[in-house]
Amino acid sequence: MPGLGEFELIERFFTRESDDPAVALGVGDDAALIDVTGRLAVAVDTLVAGTHFPASSPARSIGHRALAVNLSDLAAMGSVPRWFTLALTIPSIDERWLDEFAGGLLGLADRYSTALIGGDTTRGPLTVTVQVIGELPDRIALTRGGGRPGDDLYISGTLGDAAAAIALGSADGAAATDVSADEGLSKRFRFPEPRVELGIALRTTASAAIDVSDGLLADLGHVCEASGCGARVDLENLPLSPALIAACGDERARRHALTGGDDYELCFAAARESADAVLAAADSSSTPVTRIGRLVADEGVTCWIAGQPVPIENEGFRHF
Ligand code: ADP
Ligand code: MG
Repeated sequence: MPGLGEFELIERFFTRESDDPAVALGVGDDAALIDVTGRLAVAVDTLVAGTHFPASSPARSIGHRALAVNLSDLAAMGSVPRWFTLALTIPSIDERWLDEFAGGLLGLADRYSTALIGGDTTRGPLTVTVQVIGELPDRIALTRGGGRPGDDLYISGTLGDAAAAIALGSADGAAATDVSADEGLSKRFRFPEPRVELGIALRTTASAAIDVSDGLLADLGHVCEASGCGARVDLENLPLSPALIAACGDERARRHALTGGDDYELCFAAARESADAVLAAADSSSTPVTRIGRLVADEGVTCWIAGQPVPIENEGFRHF
């Protein structure tokens, strides 16, 4: 590696002063030290080039996504993000690439006051692992397992945009111009917005939650399994973006919404009596929320149109 060495690289791109008093020691020693009381939420996610993002993705997007997908996991637990570590494997030291990557990563980190406290840097095929640590005030977390038959089922934002961008071959943004409808879809893939504020606002209101990374039907299936119930989704109520419908038509848009992934919206359940509190959480976090169905006693996830059940093949993203 000519030019910049490993330690200069860490120093230049990934070492920043933190004014977080809980960080007793950040980047630079054998381990970071953080002072905590109470309960922590810990999640880790790895993004592999060519598997979880197109190898041609812009570096800024790769940096953003690596943290966003992890913040989304914390959001689904209702946790406040605080710190993260980064294990970065890169084929070579490309300063321009690193600058963009760090910009995407740390730009998002700053928005949520989440500090990079350590990591590891190695040479190899491009792979990015981020581990996030969040706090849970009062030790109360939102899990997948608290749903009850009769609870209303909700989704934040809109679904299917990122999956459509992948299907259209534009997820890396290379084909998009700023006037094309597809720019909006591809942006959803490249720069997903974790629903951090909504997750925190729902912490004591929702009965169960998950972030939609592998497709609504697949991820809702996990909520049902953990909650020991089933779910009924009313397809007329699925929130779809105008850009998605324009690009794919109604039917394919719906399919992307149900079986695509990568949108990182929150799917959650809440008791009927909590409907006003759900609206208040949506309001206080400035996040659109749509009621898409309810949990039921019978196992499994079923889809309905105009009061009739419709068969849907459930092909969520499978890692193997
Ligand atoms: P060690 O050999 O003890 O594992 P390293 O040489 O891997 O230490 O790392 C030196 C310091 O730099 C550590 O504090 C580590 O947490 C930090 N670090 C290494 N890579 C990164 C990275 N990509 N981002 C942030 N911190 C990093
Ligand atoms: Mg190391």
